[in-house]
Amino acid sequence: MRKPFVAGNWKMNTDSHSSVELVERIVVGASKIAGRAVTIAVCPPFVYLQAVAQAVSASSVAVGAQDVYFEQNGAFTGEVSPAMLKDVGCTYVICGHSERRHIIGETDEMINKKIAAALAGGLLPILCIGELLGEREAGQTNKVVTRQIEQGLAGLSAEKLSAVTVAYEPVWAIGTGRTATPQQAQQVHRLIRELLAKIYDEPLAAEIRILYGGSVKPDNCAELMAQPDIDGSLVGGASLKADDFLAIIESAAV
Ligand code: PEP
Repeated sequence: MRKPFVAGNWKMNTDSHSSVELVERIVVGASKIAGRAVTIAVCPPFVYLQAVAQAVSASSVAVGAQDVYFEQNGAFTGEVSPAMLKDVGCTYVICGHSERRHIIGETDEMINKKIAAALAGGLLPILCIGELLGEREAGQTNKVVTRQIEQGLAGLSAEKLSAVTVAYEPVWAIGTGRTATPQQAQQVHRLIRELLAKIYDEPLAAEIRILYGGSVKPDNCAELMAQPDIDGSLVGGASLKADDFLAIIESAAV
């Protein structure tokens, strides 16, 4: 049985005061279910990670970073290593978010190195994949998602894969208010699980949590969560409002 997982990606939002205030409201609101019925993580900007990690330290709410670099230390100006993220209290790290792929220019090869480095550093990566609108319209969704999974996870042992969460986030649904229908999302989640079963094996594929992301809101999360291969959500905009994020968490809790 896969425990539902809801993660909030705060992107480049909040400040030193509002990041702590937001997470404190989430901790209080989710105190009965966090870590038991549902795994909860928040992913603030790098500069607020430590303060947010301190604010959640007595709770079951986990903290994740939005990115990581694949080297351990050295002359990589502006980058942050897995060890640094561990040091400030991170458990998770988002790798290959579509904004990093399409705005910053990250490739599948870089993302694969980030996943490997995150795992080696004791972090739990959330691998984001998803097609652009043009790719969906051209009937290439399965091809794109297959490539992102195969290349993103290349060289990873079965043991390492068990620490990975996958997030399917169709790019056309991120921050647009346009959500994939539950059927569209389920079809791709099924494909991802079948692909993992082919690369690894079925029992392992059945264990991996596959989150949906793309304009998840309190009014659409329940029908998405009702799909058999959707195990939770990666939430952007709605994770910045404590009440909305808590409503999404509650609807995911078993
Ligand atoms: C995201 O940032 O991963 C995301 C899904 O954003 P939103 O929920 O705002 O579409």
